[in-house]
Amino acid sequence: MPDETSDQALSLHGYRVEIAVPVPIPKTYDYLSQAPLMPGQLVGVNFAGRTLVGVALQCQPLDPKTGTSEAASGYRLKSIDTVFSAATSLPPPILELCRWAANYYLHPLGEVLSVALPSALRKGAPLTKPPIMLQTVDLSEQNLEQLNRAPKQRLAYQKLLELGPIDAQEAKVHDLPREAIRNLVRRGLLLEIAATVGTPPAPRLRESLPTLTLEQREALTAVNLDQARTTLVQGVTGSGKTELYLRWMWDILSTGKQVLVLVPEIALTPQTVARFRARFDAQIAVFHSGLSERQRQDAWSECKEGRAQIVLGTRSALFVPLRNPGLIIIDEEHDASFKQQEGFRYSARDLAVVRGQIERLPVILGSATPSLETLHNATSNKYQHVQLLHRAADAAPERYDIWSLPSPHLDRATQSKMYEVIRRDLTVGGQVLVMINRRGFAPVLYCTHCQWIAQCRQCDARLTLHQARSRLICHHCSAMSSPPAVCPQCNSPTLTPLGEGTQRLESDLQRAFPDFPVIRIDGDSARSKDQLQGLLNRIQSGEACILVGTQLVSKGHHFPHLTLAFLLESDQGLLSSDYRALERTVQLIFQTGGRVGRGAKKGEVKLLTSQPDHPIMRFVKARDYSAFAKWHLAQRKTLELPPIQKFGVIRAESTQPNIAHQCLDQLASYLRLALAGEPVDLSTQTAAASPDQAKLSSNEPPSRCEVFGPIPPLMEKKNRWYRSQLLVSASRLRDRQITLGLAIAWLSANSPRGLRWHIDVDPIDQI
Ligand code: ADP
Ligand code: ZN
Ligand code: ZN
Repeated sequence: MPDETSDQALSLHGYRVEIAVPVPIPKTYDYLSQAPLMPGQLVGVNFAGRTLVGVALQCQPLDPKTGTSEAASGYRLKSIDTVFSAATSLPPPILELCRWAANYYLHPLGEVLSVALPSALRKGAPLTKPPIMLQTVDLSEQNLEQLNRAPKQRLAYQKLLELGPIDAQEAKVHDLPREAIRNLVRRGLLLEIAATVGTPPAPRLRESLPTLTLEQREALTAVNLDQARTTLVQGVTGSGKTELYLRWMWDILSTGKQVLVLVPEIALTPQTVARFRARFDAQIAVFHSGLSERQRQDAWSECKEGRAQIVLGTRSALFVPLRNPGLIIIDEEHDASFKQQEGFRYSARDLAVVRGQIERLPVILGSATPSLETLHNATSNKYQHVQLLHRAADAAPERYDIWSLPSPHLDRATQSKMYEVIRRDLTVGGQVLVMINRRGFAPVLYCTHCQWIAQCRQCDARLTLHQARSRLICHHCSAMSSPPAVCPQCNSPTLTPLGEGTQRLESDLQRAFPDFPVIRIDGDSARSKDQLQGLLNRIQSGEACILVGTQLVSKGHHFPHLTLAFLLESDQGLLSSDYRALERTVQLIFQTGGRVGRGAKKGEVKLLTSQPDHPIMRFVKARDYSAFAKWHLAQRKTLELPPIQKFGVIRAESTQPNIAHQCLDQLASYLRLALAGEPVDLSTQTAAASPDQAKLSSNEPPSRCEVFGPIPPLMEKKNRWYRSQLLVSASRLRDRQITLGLAIAWLSANSPRGLRWHIDVDPIDQI
């Protein structure tokens, strides 16, 4: 570091650059740069001995004449090591989106920005160069004569003329000598052009369009894509929502703009790409975590430079920069996978709406079973609401039947009745789905002699028996062991698997129906995208078969030959203490039911339940999600739950018992004092927590805000960590933000060693 007192201090030139560095500290850092930088530009900096890739936020010249103190302090700044090319920089709207998100989710901006970048850029890898195209310059015969003395070049030139523009790699394949090409370029007879230059050809329609149903037409005209507004498209499964997306997409694509489409699962991307390709001749970029780093980086550049016209991705694609965006579509908006559950806990659906406002874009949220949050926004007129109540293409609505069970589990009598119905459908060529939301063979390994149960040592959870691999597996921490031959407690050979999992159902059904294939789809059988695709292809081929699956099968798949579904133990959530369980259960029932009867044959859904009189059953029988949602929203309001209340959770964990609980207990006392108006300096505390947060605070203490807990989650010990949580509930957003800001400041100053903690804003995990 230069000596501050030297004469040079007076002639210091350069710029002070504020940089967001990917560290879990809610602060930005100043560095010195010799050249001015644009906000959003990526830089390599030394941070606490490590080289990190940060994002430039602001840049100010150090003026040696007027700002001597500023200039002198410049000497205390570290210099930026690397400035990456402008091709890697984040454009202003994405920067603004990230700032908004850091502020709202109370998460360090540097980490938010690093989530927004493809991992290769995050690590500082330079962008791969676009391929160089070789293009011949038109020559008259006369000019060609200059090549008479260079036969190799002449030959190469003529070949290139025949081939048309090709990339330099291809030139090798055609045996064109490199030397000759280099000389042709030098003579100006051959041009080297970066392949990215120029926009892709205008998109075209490939197929003739189906005539829209009356409902579809009304929905289509109701939405004005010139307005930067969010619209909820609520349409029963098979009502032709996707057809509407395609129409809106075309409206945008044909004006030369880009469309961003998010789906919940990687598994849904091939099906969706196929549908887009069938409709449009357009550049489609796919962006999700299943791609290699290189592929993701390429897709990112394609989107940023405007070469991709349609961008299809999962959650993280929300941050992909678009050169000329025109529309954002979130399909299956209710799906929990749009919320990131670790690190920077954001909702891609909610941020899509914010991005729409920042970039002045219309946003479409589509679902057959919208989340109560979105419905609340729609009914309170924040979003536009269009509805499709009927299935398109003459498919009849699926019918729901409730079968009551004496206990939550399948009894013999019901099982034989179920087999009978399955047989009836299979013999006329139908496909049958049996859904149970639990993978593995049996959820419990139990000793009938002493009641011992196989438990995970690292979690407060039972181990699941996986028969095929002969393993006991914990579904929470993935711990694996061999099942004991005799009971470890009483030594009797009386261990029995209890309960149903997909593997057990599969083997029972295969035994009962040896002449029909049983296809199992769950997290084990469909580990990779290709495996899942293979299974889905078999089902789509239409052979009569039984499909056994977890909720994985319920997500947006199109199974035209499915005529019958049995839902087992899907009512488990009705007993849960999680306030979201009811919403999830009903969504799962209607989403799974929606897979049935999408083709010519009409579909039936049998819901097996030990609670046939539960209030949700009448909504299920009536196939009326809207009525359910209205009823349940009223309940949430009475009970002061989201979406009417705004929730935030503070979670803490430690490998020692009680530490997390005690710490949150102290925090709770502190917060309650603050909320009661005791003198804690809100503005400075909050400002310390997050600089952006300060503007939310005022001198008035947040009043309509409550702190509940701490309470341990249902599974207190998970993967060897003992967990506890504190709930903040406020009727106004501002109050919640201030309280959470206070919590962050307190924890930053007071959390004991070894304690891990985080804030979850709008949590969707069980509380
Ligand atoms: P959703 O997305 O609401 O589940 P889709 O758009 O996938 O519904 O439509 C369900 C089925 O109906 C698809 O096979 C689709 O091709 C067909 N379909 C949709 N709209 C029409 C229409 N207007 N005329 C004929 N078939 C249609
Ligand atoms: Zn025993
Ligand atoms: Zn475990």
